[in-house]
Amino acid sequence: MVIGAGQAGLSAAYHLARQGFAPGRGSVVLDADAAPGGAWQHRWRSLTLATTHRVHELPGLPFTPASEDLPAADAVPAYFAEYERRFGLDVRRPVRVSAVRRTGDGRFLVEADVGTWRARGVVNATGTWTRPFVPRYPGQETFRGRQLHTVEYRGAAEFAGRAVVVVGGGASAVQLLGEIAPVARTTWVTRRPPVFREGPFGEEEGRAAVARVEAAVRAGRMPGSVVGVTGLVVTPWVRRALDDGVLTRLPVFDRITPDGVAWDDGRFVAADVILWATGFRAAVGHLAPLRLRTRDGVIPVEGTSAVGEPRLQLVGYGPSASTIGANRAGRTAAVTLRRLLADGGLARS
Ligand code: FAD
Repeated sequence: MVIGAGQAGLSAAYHLARQGFAPGRGSVVLDADAAPGGAWQHRWRSLTLATTHRVHELPGLPFTPASEDLPAADAVPAYFAEYERRFGLDVRRPVRVSAVRRTGDGRFLVEADVGTWRARGVVNATGTWTRPFVPRYPGQETFRGRQLHTVEYRGAAEFAGRAVVVVGGGASAVQLLGEIAPVARTTWVTRRPPVFREGPFGEEEGRAAVARVEAAVRAGRMPGSVVGVTGLVVTPWVRRALDDGVLTRLPVFDRITPDGVAWDDGRFVAADVILWATGFRAAVGHLAPLRLRTRDGVIPVEGTSAVGEPRLQLVGYGPSASTIGANRAGRTAAVTLRRLLADGGLARS
């Protein structure tokens, strides 16, 4: 049983089939979205393939979009739809899983809005998009303007002529500032001074970064942000924003007032909009009945196996929360389950 049909879930389903868990009989994928595409279908339309960091193709099928200028929200879902067809994956949607429990006979009971399934093993691939994270600041509820998270961002036009405070030090914050600044008055605040890096991220550095996240998740600690490890890569659009002076950053404010944001040293910035580009948490609330979470809210994993419950595999999680990481994790999860469940199917409805 795979929960979620984004990059991680599709990679897992592909590899499960190769490990002998045939789609339909041996494995099914339950997906909450109404259409293929995982979280990509919900991303803002100005996020094109050219402005992503790079969407790695899924195993076994080249990704050959007609143009790099296509919105990722169109190109990736079309590719995922083709992928599901090509490999005959049994994806059922829309099916939202609400709880995964242990049964008395060593299986899992997967409860969803449209029914229940019994499974000998579960690959959880539910991503983060449905769990945007917004930190709390004093006075936040008094703000008279609009607060939104990046998941609600649809384009710069709606902010024309407004005063917008963008919060967050990641790639999304930088990209949205680059889009909004030409039409609005923007202020950028981040907790730590951003570190920009010229040139690509080396393979060695990549491995070291993944190892750090792995160590944190294995120990049940919240891993730091990706950018905290890699720095902000100076892509052409970041270069433009830097040159235009858009990326001048202030430390994060101390409180929010009805009309803006304020610092204890007396500074104040008026705001009509606060845009929280403050990241996500793993969408694993439905796994709560398994009682695997630490006090940090993290399910410790070793490789892709939940510590203490290896028939639960977590992919697209912690160190594998990228398109390339999700690809690799899908394979690891399938091979691990094959070993654990040597004789039979994963799912029985
Ligand atoms: P998702 O794509 O989120 O898929 C999760 C699936 O699970 C969804 O289809 C959802 O419907 C389903 N689901 C969720 N909850 C339930 C439930 N309870 N029951 C049933 N189904 C459920 N990575 C890169 O490598 N390169 C990039 O350029 C890049 N750009 C990014 C840009 C943005 C703005 C963001 C936010 C992320 C970006 N990433 C990028 C990260 C990357 O998108 C993800 O790490 C990757 O796509 C992994 O996808 P996933 O399968 O884990 O999750």
